[in-house]
Amino acid sequence: MRRALVNGPLFDGGSGRLQHGLAVLLAADRIEAVLPRGEVPGEVALVDVGGRVVMPGIIDSHAHFALWAFDPPGQDDATVAPLREATWDALGAVLQAGCVGVRDCGGLDVAFRDGLAAGRRPGPRIQTSLTIISPVNGIADGGRPAGALAPHLHTLPAPECTGPDEARAKVREVVAAGADFIKIGATGGVSSPRREPRQQLLTEAEMTAIVDEAHRLGRPVICHALGGPGLLAALRAGVDTIEHGVWLDDEAIAEMVRRGTWYVPTLSGYELHRRRGGPLQRGHAEAIVGSHRESVRRAHAAGVRIASGSDGGVYDHDFTLELELLAAAGLPAGEVIAAATSRAAECLGWAADMGAVVPGRRADLLIVDGDPTRDITVLRNPDNLRVMQAGVFLDE
Ligand SMILES: [Zn+2]
Repeated sequence: MRRALVNGPLFDGGSGRLQHGLAVLLAADRIEAVLPRGEVPGEVALVDVGGRVVMPGIIDSHAHFALWAFDPPGQDDATVAPLREATWDALGAVLQAGCVGVRDCGGLDVAFRDGLAAGRRPGPRIQTSLTIISPVNGIADGGRPAGALAPHLHTLPAPECTGPDEARAKVREVVAAGADFIKIGATGGVSSPRREPRQQLLTEAEMTAIVDEAHRLGRPVICHALGGPGLLAALRAGVDTIEHGVWLDDEAIAEMVRRGTWYVPTLSGYELHRRRGGPLQRGHAEAIVGSHRESVRRAHAAGVRIASGSDGGVYDHDFTLELELLAAAGLPAGEVIAAATSRAAECLGWAADMGAVVPGRRADLLIVDGDPTRDITVLRNPDNLRVMQAGVFLDE
């Protein structure tokens, strides 16, 4: 059945502003046309959105829905089944909150992605890296305080590799296990007592081998990097995306502009470490949030391509906090929403299919009570939203 959304301003995801007097014509799961209200064919059923804003659904370019898989309390079904149920629930909840696409940056196995794609449970469309390729004592190495390695869930390839040859072989293994993209950990983070945030973990030779092999296999490489020489080495190795980038110096920003490297800052991850972390994370994060915001401001001014990612799953799945923090870092509201819709779709390689209200894309849409281009916080309240996935409202 064809139907048209009428009587609401349109934020198409790309133009950065609201457009008036248009109708969004839907055919099955796709957007067929965006046309003046008066040109909607007579046989098309009209859906009056009552003056509310029509916009693309949110894409979260960095989240973790199954971090428990990196350090499960046990491998038996009785232990794992409730954890899997909680992950299904979290996936369903973010869809209800307006998130229609997620790049899971470590932990989520292919059964979730494929189950969602097949419609077996409600949730967003998923890309997953499965694991985070790292050296021994890297960020995905679940070393416990006494030094023993924590076992990963058997659904994930082990993350560790040493030297370019093993790194290349690890890429092949992770792709063979079903990963949509490769995630690597180039520097430390804020959660380990044994690694400094700026410490380089993978060598440039290892990262060059990873990028070469991944690109040969048609997979992008995204890179956890906070700053310092590891971040620069990752850029020189040709990674497609820098995740976090809390200390971007002039050299890094110039390199990102020159190469077209994407930047997914995950401001909210560190803000939540600062608010709610243990003493270790809080201490690091206190020292980070100011320079992080400044890195985003300078990168944006220089023209670095920015996509919105929450790092949700470390704490809550709250992708709206990231939008609010991007706005606080100086991005105009229209660009903030673009970073979480059309720009995110570009970053993830979904631009033919998602992220904008243009003909041919999936009808994954939000109907918003309030104007998010004036006040981004209207997206925080689910009472303000009606969510459509693949042409069907969740509540119809
Ligand atoms: Zn993360």
